[in-house]
Amino acid sequence: MSFDTLGLTAPLLQAIAARGYLTPTPVQRLGIPLVLAGRDLLACAQTGSGKTAAFLLPLLESLSGAAAPRGELRALVLVPTRELAAQITEVATTLARDLPVRLKVLGAWGGVSINPQLMALRGGADLLIATPGRLLDLIDHNGLTLGALGTLVLDEADRLFALGFAEELARICALLPAQRQTLLFSATFPDEVTALAAALLSNPARVELAAEAAPDIQQRAILVDTARRTAVLRQLFTTHDWAQVLVFVATRYATEHLAMKLRRAGVPALALHGELTQGARHNALADFRAGRARVLVATDLAARGIDVVGLPAVINYDLPRSATDYVHRIGRTARAGASGVALSFVTAASEAHFRLIEKRYDLRLAREVLAGFEPTEAAPLPVVTEATGGVKGKRKSKKDRLREAAAANTPPAAASGFVWPAWRPRESGD
Ligand code: AMP
Repeated sequence: MSFDTLGLTAPLLQAIAARGYLTPTPVQRLGIPLVLAGRDLLACAQTGSGKTAAFLLPLLESLSGAAAPRGELRALVLVPTRELAAQITEVATTLARDLPVRLKVLGAWGGVSINPQLMALRGGADLLIATPGRLLDLIDHNGLTLGALGTLVLDEADRLFALGFAEELARICALLPAQRQTLLFSATFPDEVTALAAALLSNPARVELAAEAAPDIQQRAILVDTARRTAVLRQLFTTHDWAQVLVFVATRYATEHLAMKLRRAGVPALALHGELTQGARHNALADFRAGRARVLVATDLAARGIDVVGLPAVINYDLPRSATDYVHRIGRTARAGASGVALSFVTAASEAHFRLIEKRYDLRLAREVLAGFEPTEAAPLPVVTEATGGVKGKRKSKKDRLREAAAANTPPAAASGFVWPAWRPRESGD
């Protein structure tokens, strides 16, 4: 099966070949002809499945086939994070480069000045890739309207809700024209996503990939004392010839502290977290992608959706708070058919939490102990405060509650995103 049979024309086929894609992934094979035929689409697809090209290719194809209405926006891709917006904008710009019609492809996200984005949107645009908050800011500044929108893509719809964008989505939906094509991609289908799909999609074609062949991620758990995690990390770097490693920690401070400790030990390491400026985040990712650093130390927020081709290992230095984050983290490796290892440090204090993550996905990983790093810590006893009867230090932040709600709304196993889609697709028409 090649891309030639999907209904795409020569310039895009050349652009695909230039990216090194030889055969379409299932979501591309099934989705592209449906989108080209003008259907609404509801696709169950993870990051790593090739979903970006599955919507960008037919979108660019149809945009290049029709004249642009002046001063309007023709197609919009809504995504949950700035990184994902930047990534998709880059792919779309590259794919559109050699089209016979010059398309105006723009990306817009927060954390940077709105003025250049407002300037760029003057005269309209063919395709805008945006995060919900910034899109609404642009609309509020009269930078654009959605009245002439031909196609709306909602990418990672479940993450849009999990990150608290429900209100923004409701506002955006109210501004959409009745006549349009809508494509919705989501790894999981909690109730809000199902409701959104029912509200926005008209007679959608469905692309589901039956859960069967998981990506080739070897999951491991290492028992370690909290204070010796950096030493264990360095030990792992010497015993494995991983070209690059993504290390997850819990806080902004920890990203910088650990990256600094690694650099002092001679390991080129960079920190990535949500409080860096957009430029600094971009540079850290670009440096990591270009191989100028061996280790990227990141928080969940900064690393969500990032795509580093061929990343061999992900390490949970601190465990993720939610089981859903665990899946997102480990999915950074073993992308596009490659294999990878996901390694979690489990301390006496985090053992119970890791068990919950395992339980959620019906996993039970053997606990490994590294010679010379045998753990000695005992599990702490929870401290119950008299006033509240709660467990001290466990007060939930708003973000925690959102994450928990997102996790709770996610049905276990197949629909949770943990049992990954196999490349044995199932398609049902209506
Ligand atoms: P996505 O699921 O869109 O985030 O894509 C995951 C990764 O797969 C990205 O690195 C893409 O560049 C890559 N990719 C997408 N489609 C193909 C394809 N047909 N062949 C090989 N790699 C692909």
